[in-house]
Amino acid sequence: INADNGAPTIFDKIIAKEIPSTIVYEDDKVLAFKDISPQAPVHVLVIPKFRDGLTQLGKAEQRHGVILGQLLYAARIVAEKEGILDGFRVVINNGPSACQSVYHLHLHVLGGRQMKWPPG
Ligand code: 5GP
Repeated sequence: INADNGAPTIFDKIIAKEIPSTIVYEDDKVLAFKDISPQAPVHVLVIPKFRDGLTQLGKAEQRHGVILGQLLYAARIVAEKEGILDGFRVVINNGPSACQSVYHLHLHVLGGRQMKWPPG
């Protein structure tokens, strides 16, 4: 199981395009790409290009406010591009007990099927 040890993650390779991914949205600060193991018809990950200490949301500091807002807005752009603006879910898994597996902050944008709550 992965730990939050500050080491580079697979997402650095995706950002550097050393590992292929299906990019849905990209700007200078944010990258959104399809999850390799989709849990819904639409499942896109939205990540900051510069991790800057944001291994997990629990490590956020006030200075991260701008990028956190940009990530959330990018989730909305992704939802529109994927045609799920009428209903979508944004999830952040934080830490081992939430099953976070990659320690580079990421938003899951999920949609295209009826969501249930709680997810279980
Ligand atoms: P977490 O469990 O940390 O919240 O989410 C990590 C997500 O990254 C998982 O949904 C997993 O499927 C996805 N993922 C892991 N490795 C890769 C990869 O190499 N490419 C892509 N596109 N997604 C990945």
